[in-house]
Amino acid sequence: MTDCLFCRMVAGEIPADVVHETDRVLAFRDINPQAPTHVLVIPKEHHATAGALVTADPELLADVVAGAHAVATQEGLVADGNAEPGYRLVANTGPQAGQTVHHVHLHVLGGRGLGWPPG
Ligand code: 5GP
Ligand code: ZN
Repeated sequence: MTDCLFCRMVAGEIPADVVHETDRVLAFRDINPQAPTHVLVIPKEHHATAGALVTADPELLADVVAGAHAVATQEGLVADGNAEPGYRLVANTGPQAGQTVHHVHLHVLGGRGLGWPPG
């Protein structure tokens, strides 16, 4: 979709600080980070929401989750045993959740204590 910001990043038309990439998934740093690690993981193919994606292609949703795990690992947020610092995956879906880009994305947040519940 040429009018989709994240499709344009996949196409290389808008620069992205890429931290992980496979043939089907792209992960890049958020332009307005809310934590020391704030990375967005997307399928390269356009799907609006996680629900739309899991309906159309559940294996691709699994690839996106695997991409998020790879990012968390390389950012040092996953360790063996009980020493892991931890991280949060977020998929804002719809206006009340604050979704602003309508190409499904997982936020990978970590590197500081994260409050719960979120605001
Ligand atoms: P949402 O609110 O839809 O869950 O998240 C969209 C995210 O995309 C926001 O955290 C926002 O900072 C990020 N974002 C918006 N425009 C750009 C951009 O041009 N480049 C990057 N790297 N992130 C962006
Ligand atoms: Zn898109």
